[in-house]
Amino acid sequence: MSGALTWLLVLGATAGAPAPPAPAVPEAMTCFVRAYPKTVCGAAPDALTLCDGARIPWDDGRDKSDFETLLNAPDLQDTMTMRYRRGSDYPVPPLNFEPGRIRHLPFFEAMYGASKAAVKAQLVPVRWLLDDGGKTVLMTRVNGVAAALQRVSDDIARELSPELRELAAKCSGTFNWRTIRGAKRRSLHSFGVAIDIGVARSNYWDWTKPDAQGRYTYRNRFPLEIVEIFERHGFIWGGKWYHFDTMHFEYRPELLTAPCVDAP
Ligand SMILES: [Zn+2]
Repeated sequence: MSGALTWLLVLGATAGAPAPPAPAVPEAMTCFVRAYPKTVCGAAPDALTLCDGARIPWDDGRDKSDFETLLNAPDLQDTMTMRYRRGSDYPVPPLNFEPGRIRHLPFFEAMYGASKAAVKAQLVPVRWLLDDGGKTVLMTRVNGVAAALQRVSDDIARELSPELRELAAKCSGTFNWRTIRGAKRRSLHSFGVAIDIGVARSNYWDWTKPDAQGRYTYRNRFPLEIVEIFERHGFIWGGKWYHFDTMHFEYRPELLTAPCVDAP
């Protein structure tokens, strides 16, 4: 067979059976790329690539229909299935609706440190509402989290009333290498990306008693003006979870990034 005929046959075969389209990168994965530009350097259909070369698989293929399994062993994909609603107009969270409370810990360990010493090495001071009775607190400098919290403090100081500033100034914790109360999961306070404030007007699901069906009744007394300022700078609020924790904020810009955020 001549060389030219071979090529024609090859072309004919190719034209008759087009190559399948390359698998797409999941849309929710693009929110990580946009939200963490200094840490997440690439997205393939099956994994995020961090800038230091680490790969975080997207989907572990395991069934998470049981809520405890979802909470205790989510993959990265599972952390994006509930959309966080931005702003002060939000519905009372239905049963087990907790956007952001589902966390894939290996992702945070890869970014912020997998040991207490590794996390501590990245902590820097933030001047938290010093003119309103606050104090200097420690947050991680990774991903610009400390700088973001400083902007939250500056905006609260500039925009809110003395009463709200005084409430927000009362900080009951940032970095703390610990597990969540009553659970084995590591708290995001361990990574220097979370802050608890205003405990005097806080509600926590585990401080209340469930009803006969085991359901918790949603409660909130925390001012939403403060919540809106945190969200502006990449922090989500624990007051939008069925298992509410209204003093708690954590840096989760992937949940506040279009198209992943539920924005009114
Ligand atoms: Zn907290």
